[in-house]
Amino acid sequence: MRRAAALSALLLAALLLAGCGAPQDAPAAEPTPEPLCAHDWRDGVCSLCGEVCVHDWAEGVCRVCGMVCAHDWAEGVCRVCGMVCAHDWDEGVCTICGRVCTHEDHDRETRECRVCGLTVPHRYVNCVCSCGARPQYVEDLKLYPEEVLVNEEGPGQIDSYVYNRLTGEIVEGDRKRNHFERVVLIYTPCGYDPEGAYDVVFLTNASNTNSAAWLTKGYSFDSQHCHFTGKKLLDGMIAQGYCEPTIFVSIEYRRNASPAKTAEMYERELRRDVLPFLIENYATYASLDENRRVIPAREHFAHTGASFGSTMSWELMTRCADLFSYWGLYSGRLSEGVPIVRAIDEAAAQYPLDFVYVGGGKGEPASGTFEKYTAGIIEDCVSLEEGKNIAFLNLDHAIHWHPTWFVLLHNSMQVFFRNRYEPLG
Ligand SMILES: [Zn+2]
Ligand SMILES: [Zn+2]
Ligand SMILES: [Zn+2]
Ligand SMILES: [Zn+2]
Ligand SMILES: [Zn+2]
Ligand SMILES: [Zn+2]
Repeated sequence: MRRAAALSALLLAALLLAGCGAPQDAPAAEPTPEPLCAHDWRDGVCSLCGEVCVHDWAEGVCRVCGMVCAHDWAEGVCRVCGMVCAHDWDEGVCTICGRVCTHEDHDRETRECRVCGLTVPHRYVNCVCSCGARPQYVEDLKLYPEEVLVNEEGPGQIDSYVYNRLTGEIVEGDRKRNHFERVVLIYTPCGYDPEGAYDVVFLTNASNTNSAAWLTKGYSFDSQHCHFTGKKLLDGMIAQGYCEPTIFVSIEYRRNASPAKTAEMYERELRRDVLPFLIENYATYASLDENRRVIPAREHFAHTGASFGSTMSWELMTRCADLFSYWGLYSGRLSEGVPIVRAIDEAAAQYPLDFVYVGGGKGEPASGTFEKYTAGIIEDCVSLEEGKNIAFLNLDHAIHWHPTWFVLLHNSMQVFFRNRYEPLG
């Protein structure tokens, strides 16, 4: 038994030795290397051996085949080669990758964008810009910056039209022939480009004035600032960078019924005639459908009013929330507070208000009531947050007349088209 085991162990060892031995045999033949292809790369494929290059990109050129990347840019980075664009900015757009600068990183004082170098307006979200700036309101009529009246850029232009409320017809001209007609003045800024797109501000008038009051009628702040017009102020505001080049539309309406009734008529004519005419003939952000109905661009449209125009605008805020996201209400209020609160909130639930600027003059007899009325609205409306999308300002040294409203318009332009309201929660 033991002997048999020993024998088989011996046999196994001999077999193992035989397997490992034989050093005289040739080693397992390595494959003879084929002659190396010199590779003649054409668009990343070798024309000789057909091999496809596995690109190794460096600065947009393949280290292997020398192919230059055609670049497929996304957010400033090439999807193909991973190169980061060095950016060559022209008016806020990169000429290489097409990226549009967000201008978020800009100087608070000079407003110069640290990325693209452009001077940009502050853009507020809930009235705070990414640079930390907040809107600057003039609080005293006497402290209105004189530089606003200095304008070296050249004047804007005013086009005058006569609108027939009965027929809806709007024709060039400045003379009314019957009581159905209204004069509409349209201001276009210096350098206006009919192919461009501009923000639009509607201006509505006080009871005993007309469309000239906002644009062409002369006023004086005091003895130093003699004789200026709303147009001259707008020219200066745009030239001095207080606001962007904007279209202003002055339209006259009279209190010939209750504010609600007048607002209803005004709204009908606005949608049916005035806005379609404006959109067809001027460079706005809005457009018309095939039935000549307005396709609004509410974040580019503001509606303001002084005195009766303001009273009517409070009404309009609840009716035309789809058309305008910014409202200026100067020295005029409704008599009733509660129904308007409900209506504002209902409209804003669908069309959030980006900013409502309310103001008056401390020298107005009704000054206190405007303030109280607005405070009540702010308190009761869930859609309005003080300082975020509504502000109230009573101007010092200001009475119930146009210079007061010009300064309130100036203040409004610090937030119109610049503030986006984002309610928390
Ligand atoms: Zn090859
Ligand atoms: Zn390659
Ligand atoms: Zn690339
Ligand atoms: Zn670029
Ligand atoms: Zn920029
Ligand atoms: Zn800013």
